[in-house]
Order: sequence, then structure tokens, then C-alpha cells
Amino acid sequence: MPVGAEAPLAPQAGSASALRVGVLASQGDFAAHAAMLLAIGAQPVEVRTPAEFLQVAALVIPGGESTTISKAIERDRLAEPIRAHVAAGMPILGTCAGMIVCDREHLGLAEIVARRNAFGRQLQSFEADLHVAGLGPDPMRAVFIRAPWVESVGPGVEMLAELEGHPVAVRDGRLLLVAFHPELASDPRLHAMLMAMAEAAPAREKEARR
Ligand code: GLN
Repeated sequence: MPVGAEAPLAPQAGSASALRVGVLASQGDFAAHAAMLLAIGAQPVEVRTPAEFLQVAALVIPGGESTTISKAIERDRLAEPIRAHVAAGMPILGTCAGMIVCDREHLGLAEIVARRNAFGRQLQSFEADLHVAGLGPDPMRAVFIRAPWVESVGPGVEMLAELEGHPVAVRDGRLLLVAFHPELASDPRLHAMLMAMAEAAPAREKEARR
């Protein structure tokens, strides 16, 4: 699907009725996610404090450095607000370090364990065309940067894409987790999927539109 294909259906970006999607802005490439969300009609909101979670209908946890992001979450007391956000029905898109942060050994939001830097030093950065379940027949250009893969999954975790025999995109309920950087290729389908998950979520979605 070309960039912006969802746009005609969406309210004007930044308008009062646009869906507010938070981007955890502790560290990493949150600005690129915000730009992609704006392009598909969402109103991106940088989130750094517990109070800011109350204003968003969905959350992106970007790539960056998972240890740094985890420390920032602890420092800023964001773990509980993030858990409450998910418990209230709101979805998260976690990309690369954002996937790691959501796993069982970090925030414990998804029944997966991610393995950091799994593709090895010689493959610090590469791109691949991936078929991602739920995104239609066209493959997605995926940018991997010192990427994790999913080492183990619990029951109920859906595999959406794999590479070299390892899951690199999964969905566990409201958690949509990918090992690559969708914000660096001009394909907003995962961000659109996050918005669709938020639209399907109960109550607080309406609050976040006010
Ligand atoms: N290797 C990083 C980490 O372990 C993740 C890299 C990324 O987000 N691009 O945190």
C-alpha cells in the first residue's frame, strides 16, 4: 500500500478529532515515528511523564538502546502507567529496542523473550523484504539495525513474520512487536495497524480524542 493510502479515511492530521498516538520520547528515534503517524492522519504526542499517558489512545515504543530506554522508564516511573495503559485496552507498537523493552525480562507486557543483537556483529545493519501477516500480499521493506529476534514465545503469541527461521514480528494481544524499524522505510502499514487496534479498543479511546 502506498504511503498515505489510509489518509482519505482519517481525520485531518493534528485536528481535534485525530487519534492521539503517544510516542515514548525517552530516547531513540521517536521523531521518525511521530512524522510517520502525522502522515497517516494521527496526532502524535511525545510522552515522557505518567500524566501524558492519559492523553493517548495508543503508544509507540521506538528503537534505540534498550538498556537506556529501560533505565529512563525506571527513572521517570513509567512502568506502571505503561502497564495500566495496556490493561485499559490500549495497544502498543514496539520496534527493535521497543520490542526488547516489552518482553518478559523487561516490562513483562508480552509473553516473549527477545534476544538482543541476535543477528551478529557482521550483520549490524541490513534490509530485507518481509511478508507480514495481516498487511496484505505486498512485502514490507524492513530495516534491521543491531536488531533482536524473538527467542521464545508463550502460547497465544501470533507470529507475523520471520527471518532466517526466527520470528521478527509478533502480536500478543494488544502488543505489536517488530525487530526492525518500520519508521525508516516509507511504509506506514504497521502504524496504521496500531491505529486500527486503538480504534477497536474500548472507552479510553474516546477520552483521548477530547
Ligand atoms: N541493539 C539495541 C538494543 O539492544 C537495539 C537496536 C535498535 O533499536 N535499533 O537495545
